[in-house]
Amino acid sequence: MSDTTLPTVRTVADLRTVVRGWKRAGRRVALVPTMGALHAGHLSLVTLARTKVDHVVASLFVNPTQFAPHEDFDAYPRSEARDAELLAGVGCDLLFAPTVEEMYAPGFATQVTVGGVSEPLDGAARPGHFTGVATVVAKLLIQAEPDVAVFGEKDYQQLQVIKRLARDLDLPVEIVGAPTARADDGLALSSRNAYLSPAEREIAVRLNGVLADAVKRLRAGERVEHVEATGLAALERAGFGKIDYFEVRAAADLARQGPGALDAPARVLAAAFVGKTRLIDNMAV
Ligand code: AMP
Repeated sequence: MSDTTLPTVRTVADLRTVVRGWKRAGRRVALVPTMGALHAGHLSLVTLARTKVDHVVASLFVNPTQFAPHEDFDAYPRSEARDAELLAGVGCDLLFAPTVEEMYAPGFATQVTVGGVSEPLDGAARPGHFTGVATVVAKLLIQAEPDVAVFGEKDYQQLQVIKRLARDLDLPVEIVGAPTARADDGLALSSRNAYLSPAEREIAVRLNGVLADAVKRLRAGERVEHVEATGLAALERAGFGKIDYFEVRAAADLARQGPGALDAPARVLAAAFVGKTRLIDNMAV
């Protein structure tokens, strides 16, 4: 557990050699995909994975195809040496850190698009984003051949997209969702929080409170459309800039809810900018 040197592979061939060796020995394997710049939220995924299998592989790949040209691909924080140390400290067994060329060989021409659950919310606000995500996650699951793959509820829509992907393509993997890790003040941990100035962080932390208030109102039977309008107004008052969405959706398929009171398990989801930083968060109702 305290070993700080983490074995690292950079090619699919080397990854498969290690994983297939474990499997031949009868061991079960989990994959935790990340884009690095790790925080306690990522590490909680590894810790959860360890409770389910014998060996945990983390992947570190800042996937260019899920960023739009105007988004922060070049600026995205990168800290592989520190990430490897943190992963080793929570008992990760292997880091898969491929280059862009290893993932996308010349002539690469295949895309995986998940319909339905990819379309609203972040799918509408970030066209092409979920195709980039679904394609790279399909590749990672085929490359690593894990028994289990763990994703955070922080990216709730992404988790649903990946569950759909695995079911639809008969990928032999169990997709597990992990609860959102938060700072003491409630701000969901995110690699992008590193972009926030102290003043912006004061605004960012209000997102958690506005979501919690919406959950309370929905539980008390308030109409969905009122709760959505109240949440939007509260985010504006708190100092958020562009608000991509503040919506109540069905927990399983992200179908729109309302008008009227909720009658099924739901999720409140929000995406909004503080300065140039786009934050997302969500809560179960
Ligand atoms: P990323 O590196 O942002 O692509 O995230 C990699 C994985 O970590 C995804 O499955 C995320 O949902 C998950 N994750 C990110 N932030 C958190 C958090 N605060 N709590 C739990 N999981 C998280």
